[in-house]
Amino acid sequence: MNLLEECKGAGSIGIGGHVRPDGDCIGSCMGLYLYLKKELPQADIQVFLEKPADIYGCISRIGDVDSTCDEQKKFDVFFALDTSADRIGVAGTCFKMAGKRINIDHHISNENGCGDVNFVDPSASSTSELVYRLIGSEGLDRDIAEALYMGIVHDTGCFQYSCTSPSTLRAAADLISYGFDFSRLIEETFYEKNYLQAQILGRALLESIRFMDGRCVVSALSRKTLDFYGAGPQDLEGIVSQLRSIKGVECAIFLYETGVQEYKVSLRSSEKVNVAAIASYFGGGGHIRAAGCTMMGTAYDVINNLSLHIERQLDGRDEKE
Ligand code: AMP
Ligand code: MN
Ligand code: MN
Repeated sequence: MNLLEECKGAGSIGIGGHVRPDGDCIGSCMGLYLYLKKELPQADIQVFLEKPADIYGCISRIGDVDSTCDEQKKFDVFFALDTSADRIGVAGTCFKMAGKRINIDHHISNENGCGDVNFVDPSASSTSELVYRLIGSEGLDRDIAEALYMGIVHDTGCFQYSCTSPSTLRAAADLISYGFDFSRLIEETFYEKNYLQAQILGRALLESIRFMDGRCVVSALSRKTLDFYGAGPQDLEGIVSQLRSIKGVECAIFLYETGVQEYKVSLRSSEKVNVAAIASYFGGGGHIRAAGCTMMGTAYDVINNLSLHIERQLDGRDEKE
C-alpha cells in the first residue's frame, strides 16, 4: 500500500485508534498524522482519540487530537490504526461512513482487516512499525520519528517481548538517527510512574494470588479500591507485565472493575499460553503473548472462567493457535 496514492484527491482525511489508547496507538496515529500534514498541506486532516494521558505531552502536536467527533461528517479517507472496527474509540461512526476505509493493524485477532484497504501484519511488533514501513525512511522527520519510536518501544516492552524482530530493531536504528532524546522519551512515557500509580501497583502486587503451582498469577482491583486511590485506566498500565515477570509465572491475569459485574481483563503470557485465543473466546482479542477482553460476573467468576482455559493450554489439552 502507498499512503499518498491512497489519499490522492482526498479533501478530508480522518485518523482514529482504539479505545483507551496506549503508546502504540498514540504513536502510530500521531506519526501518520504528522506525515500526512507534511505531505498534504491542502487537505483537512484530523486525528481522533480518547484524551491521551499527560505522559504523551512530549509528542509533537498532541494538542491537535480531537476527543469528540462530528458523527455526520463524511471523510473521503479514514484510517483505523492499531484496532478493528468494533474498538475504534471516538470515531467509529466516521470510519463506517467514510468514502474509503483504511485499516493498519498488527492484532492477530484482526487478521483480515476491517477496511476497504487493509495493511495488517500480525508478525509486526507494533502498528507504529507498520506506519514506519509505509512512510519509508525518506518521508520521516524528527517529530514523526519520535512518535513512531515511542509506539515501538511501548508495544515491544522496550525491545524485550518476542514480537521484537530484526526489522523492528532496524526501524528503531533508523528512527533514532533523527536525533530526538530517546532516553528521556522512554523514561517519561514508559517507565516513570507518579506516586499514585506506584501505590496502586504496590497494592495490586500485594493482593495478587498465585495458583496452578505458581504458573499463574492473578490480581483484581475493585471499583471501591480504584475510587479510594482516585485511579483511572491510564494509572493501571504496566501492572499486568509486573505480574507476568514474577519467576515461574507462565500466565498473568489482571482485572479491574469497570461497571456492575463488569471487568476489564488483561492477559500476558511468558512462553506457553496463547492468550489471544483465550481473549478472543471471551469476545476480546490481541496478540499471542498480550491480549485483553471485557467479562461479566463477579471477579471469582471471571478468574474461574479464565483459569479453565489457561489450565487446558498448560496441560496440552487445548489448541494453542
Ligand atoms: P491490554 O491488556 O488492554 O493492554 O491489551 C493487550 C493487547 O490486546 C493490546 O494490543 C490491545 O490492543 C489488545 N486488546 C485488549 N482488549 C482487546 C479487545 N477487547 N479486543 C481486541 N483486542 C484487545
Ligand atoms: Mn494498542
Ligand atoms: Mn499495537
